[in-house]
Amino acid sequence: ESAPVKVDNTPSWRPVLQAPQESGIGLSAEAYRRRHEISVIGANVPNPFVTFNSTCFPSEILRELHQAGFSAPTPIQAQSWPIALQNRDIIAVAKTGSGKTIGYLIPGFIHLKRLNNDVRMGPTVLVLSPTRELATQIHEEAVKFGKSSRISCACLYGGAPKGPQLRDIDRGVHVVVATPGRLNDILEMKRLHLDQVSYLVLDEADRMLDMGFEPQIRKIVKEIPTKRQTLMYTATWPKEVRKIASDLLVKPVQVNIGNVNELVANKSITQHVEVIPHMQKRRRLEQILRSNGPSKYIVFCSTKRMCDQLAGYLDGPFGASAIHGDKSQMERDKVLSDFRNGKSPILVATDVAARGLDIKDIRFVINYDFPTGVEDYVHRIGRTGRAGATGVAYTFFCDQDSKYASDLVKILVGADQEVPSELRDMASRGGYGGKSRRWASDSSYARDDYGPALDSYDQSR
Ligand code: ADP
Ligand code: MG
Repeated sequence: ESAPVKVDNTPSWRPVLQAPQESGIGLSAEAYRRRHEISVIGANVPNPFVTFNSTCFPSEILRELHQAGFSAPTPIQAQSWPIALQNRDIIAVAKTGSGKTIGYLIPGFIHLKRLNNDVRMGPTVLVLSPTRELATQIHEEAVKFGKSSRISCACLYGGAPKGPQLRDIDRGVHVVVATPGRLNDILEMKRLHLDQVSYLVLDEADRMLDMGFEPQIRKIVKEIPTKRQTLMYTATWPKEVRKIASDLLVKPVQVNIGNVNELVANKSITQHVEVIPHMQKRRRLEQILRSNGPSKYIVFCSTKRMCDQLAGYLDGPFGASAIHGDKSQMERDKVLSDFRNGKSPILVATDVAARGLDIKDIRFVINYDFPTGVEDYVHRIGRTGRAGATGVAYTFFCDQDSKYASDLVKILVGADQEVPSELRDMASRGGYGGKSRRWASDSSYARDDYGPALDSYDQSR
């Protein structure tokens, strides 16, 4: 067996593109940053590209952006594109739905075109992503925006046979999008070499760490030359993420969209929190589904078993299916495509499906079971209200969730939402302390109507 041919992959790291000093739409860089709540940390941070035309992207790419119907860069794109094009490392902290994917893909395309490496020696751009669903979506965006620039891309994820994935990489690709587990399997088989990778993206880094991928990520990074550009995207900025950033990135520029120290929910999502006895959840869920009518719903449960049960129960009257970690890849693909095309409009999911899934036109998120913490709550409701659309979240909150009451109140207040008085009471009792059996005897909770606000909601849109 012959050793893989080593190529000189030392690129010339001079920036070829300079950000224009003036924004072009009459707004100074500072004013644009203030307006879009962008803060930057780093030396000589270039001005944002506030229009597509100011990006100096190749015409093929500009055409794709135009064809996608996009009218302007999102704030994270506007600010991170010029930094990425200077070949600098980036930490970007931005909530889901802010357009991060093409935020890193397009500079990656420009990077690989400039290097023009031989694809037979391995990929130049590597994107790591926490879940197969998310990896698939990134791959789809890469194919869509890279096609006219003749960029080839493979997607590697677990739970599916390796054969087709290996065939894809054997053909030679510029870009690999992968989940850490499957990528390591393939690296161990020596079927892929990463010594030509010089643009590494860690997408949803916080989620990857939550899922325990840190050792896998570190193992992969050891295979990549240190002379590289590294971009890390994350929705939150906890200390675990800060640690891995300081280990893997060199003099990064940090771009924050919104306030990153505080967990904030998207204000375009209307959040209804209902303090409700556990026993009444199912009946209330049905009421919500009936009163809002046909639409796409994601219902979150805390266990796989509950997911299956609830989906089974709702499937007859409404059309529902479950997605969670015990489903095979084939089942998951089927469930997602039935959901996307509206055949099965209710998706009952565990948190595994919560982050990263980008399914268009989800109007409603229902937290049937409250998650273990408000961070997941914010991620879950972020499945709706994406890219400027409005969304509605319903959350059932039980006695057993009372330890999250005060955190949840903060989130609601921070997003200018109404706080139900029952929740405020629970928060002020400091969580566990309250009379935990109160609901059983509280007749006001046996009522059928949940106030006019919910039923009139739809008409007000
Ligand atoms: P994130 O990774 O931050 O959660 P995505 O990259 O998945 O966000 O983008 C969310 C949605 O916004 C996608 O459907 C994407 O196609 C769309 N999108 C991306 N950039 C723009 C833009 N400049 N204008 C309008 N929509 C955009
Ligand atoms: Mg994303």
